[in-house]
Amino acid sequence: MELEYTEHLSPMLKGDIKNYLIDIDGTITDDVPNEEPERMITCEPFPDALETINRWYDDGHQICFFTSRTEDLRKITEDWLNKHGFKYHSVLMGKPRGGNYHWIDNHLVRATRYKGKFTDLVEKQVTIEVFRD
Ligand SMILES: [Mg+2]
Repeated sequence: MELEYTEHLSPMLKGDIKNYLIDIDGTITDDVPNEEPERMITCEPFPDALETINRWYDDGHQICFFTSRTEDLRKITEDWLNKHGFKYHSVLMGKPRGGNYHWIDNHLVRATRYKGKFTDLVEKQVTIEVFRD
């Protein structure tokens, strides 16, 4: 990972490289709850997700899967990702369950809701919630 360091500040990715944080269940495969781990072995990846994510990886972006699956499901999860040929850098387990995410950070954050088609991202004007100036 190519990082740019500024004294006394946390480093930032160089250029246009993105840190993709990508959900697993319901986003790159069926929505499998933690209570049904046997389905995590047999579910199939969404082909457009596999193709798009691997292209992002090949283009130099950072790919991190960020999932509400628990740490005890890491091996099943990584074996499944590897079996289906996903290219990635890391897997973060233990994301809070329940959705309605709102991420607050001093770094730039963009968010995209998955609604059934995994494509390259396009620009669109939308309303968002921000802090008062
Ligand atoms: Mg999900």
